[in-house]
Amino acid sequence: MSAIGALLRPRSVAVIGASADAGKMTGRPVGYLQKYGFDGDIWPVNPRVEAIAGLRCYPDVASLPGAPDAAIVLLGPDRAEAAVRDLAARGCQAAIVLASGYGEANEDGARKQQALKDAAGSMRLLGPNTIGLVNLTDGMMLSATGALEVGNLAVGRISVVSQSGGILGSLLSRAADRGIGFAKLVSTGNEADIDSSEMIAHLVEDEATDVIAVYMEGLRRPEVFKRAARRAAELGKPIVVYKVGRSDSGARAATSHTGALAGADRVYDALFRQYGVIRAESFTDLLDIPAALASGRRMKGDRVAILTSTGGAGTLLADNCGLAGIEVPMPDAVTTQRLATLLNEDPGAIGRNPVDVTLAGLRPDLFRGAIDALLESPSYDAAVVVIGSSALATPDIVAGAIVECQARSEKPVLAYVSPHAPHLVRLLNGQGIPAFATPESCATVLRALHRPALPPLVNAEAEDATVLAGLPAGNLNEAESKAIFARFGVPVTREAVAADAEGAAVAARELGGEVVLKVLSRAIAHKSDIGGVRVGLKPEEVSEACVTMLQRLREAGAPTPEGFLVQERIRGGVEMILGFHRDPQLGPVILLGSGGVAAELFQDTTLRLLPISRPDAEAMVEELKAARLLRGYRGAAPADIPALVDAVMAFAAMAVAAGERLQEAEINPLFVLPAGQGARAVDGLAVLR
Ligand code: ADP
Ligand code: MG
Repeated sequence: MSAIGALLRPRSVAVIGASADAGKMTGRPVGYLQKYGFDGDIWPVNPRVEAIAGLRCYPDVASLPGAPDAAIVLLGPDRAEAAVRDLAARGCQAAIVLASGYGEANEDGARKQQALKDAAGSMRLLGPNTIGLVNLTDGMMLSATGALEVGNLAVGRISVVSQSGGILGSLLSRAADRGIGFAKLVSTGNEADIDSSEMIAHLVEDEATDVIAVYMEGLRRPEVFKRAARRAAELGKPIVVYKVGRSDSGARAATSHTGALAGADRVYDALFRQYGVIRAESFTDLLDIPAALASGRRMKGDRVAILTSTGGAGTLLADNCGLAGIEVPMPDAVTTQRLATLLNEDPGAIGRNPVDVTLAGLRPDLFRGAIDALLESPSYDAAVVVIGSSALATPDIVAGAIVECQARSEKPVLAYVSPHAPHLVRLLNGQGIPAFATPESCATVLRALHRPALPPLVNAEAEDATVLAGLPAGNLNEAESKAIFARFGVPVTREAVAADAEGAAVAARELGGEVVLKVLSRAIAHKSDIGGVRVGLKPEEVSEACVTMLQRLREAGAPTPEGFLVQERIRGGVEMILGFHRDPQLGPVILLGSGGVAAELFQDTTLRLLPISRPDAEAMVEELKAARLLRGYRGAAPADIPALVDAVMAFAAMAVAAGERLQEAEINPLFVLPAGQGARAVDGLAVLR
């Protein structure tokens, strides 16, 4: 067994600093181990006590009868380090340190945390600053949380990993109240050693776990998380994450627009989407969504039947389903006829959705018949039974009927309990029917039950040292940047570099037609801000335009440029932005959005972590508001979307091949021309380390 395995299912546990006073925090862990039926050895360690709760107490770690599989350290930061060192020396596999006052507190605490980790050596460490772990599958608690005082903890197939201990306690008590069971709950705290990603990876393989709920502050090891998420998707075990820090999605200092547009939290969104992780948008979703997913049932499509015995609540739910993108279609003719016959009603009155069965609500046989009819209908992928006040008098009968019908079908069956009736919610959840007290929760959960397949995982192409060879650190000018992009197949404008006004005029004549004149300078990242771009010049106007431009640049105090760039003028099409930057936590990110000068105004952007697959690139385009523009908005010609997707793929390949030295890269704008005419990068910026 791995050390984490031993930590979750030890055969022997040392409790360091255990107190004989069950009322004290340090008295709880031994009590909880006994209360929840831990059947291994419990070895309390405390030099001042002979026995605790009928167990022999040992004066120190050295005198334990053997090497414990796991230990829980209840001492403060001043004494925990020595205990951890003793445990490691004794051959203990993993220890939990509950105490706070480490890295989360201050620099001195951070030093103590490092010392604690050093003292652990090869022994694995959970915490510090954690409330420990709760294994309901095996009746094993290594925790002092008061949440375990609750008597009615149900065993279920949801496991929880939380970076916060308090939140874990909160989930535990809320779930108990709603009759939702857990398999294992772990608070990773400061993550001096074992972090949430590693714990998730372990739980993905746990046979007693079907769904993993995660409370996340940030990831220390994104690569471990990605692997765990992919593995979870392979095994069909959903991961649901509630991540804090959404409000802190502010801009970072960056040379390109991309950095400013790609807030840190949005990069997490991209990570979750690409790796099939469900993001809980509200804290209640973190319990609701796993509760529904734990049934193991999924919607094959997005159509739900609503059966209600209370009109208003049915409408409320249907409305919320609509907002969540879940269809509430009318029943098909066969189903309508079946319902009408069953309920002895006019098909015109019953053939609606929500299906209102006020009468059947009081007659279990009719109620069952109606649920069966909806679940057997090919028109629906799930059913929600809305429970009104009339059911409160006979909760067992209602619950019994739903349970019975669910067993005959493979489709998800949910209950929306309209009156305030926690006992009914508990009863239903306890019998395997995910039940919710709000229409919003029901709708959110339905959306989570209907999830598109993950795009294929792609392998990053190899880095190519020649891509940036010989180029200096810092910003490259437009011509240098676009030359790199073009090597990978990004279509760029026809253009020529000129040293002076005369050369620019020659270049313009060679290009022919209207041209664009730009200042060429590594020092000027935003050329038009200081008069460094002239669009639509005739070749004969170029020479004089160069003189004026230089004059203006000098007045603006700009450094002497490398020269001029003369390029073809692109007309028509939709201006997009295509960018690349490195997220400090999650790594290389690509951004696509509405471009041009208003890019930051519209904030119409979408992100992916690299590498990406073609379906990823296609999905990026579809996610933008600009997608409607690209498809041909209000009579405008549709744009060349395949060429845009090609450009995204080429740019992504460039970013991967360029490797670590490439800090930022951006094309703004990328003109997407009418269908069949391709795309053109008219500007380019690359920032090298
Ligand atoms: P900046 O450094 O200010 O971003 P750009 O090269 O992006 O300079 O030029 C500014 C704007 O001028 C672009 O957003 C685009 O609208 C227009 N523009 C630039 N180059 C061309 C071109 N070759 N054809 C048509 N329009 C252009
Ligand atoms: Mg630009």
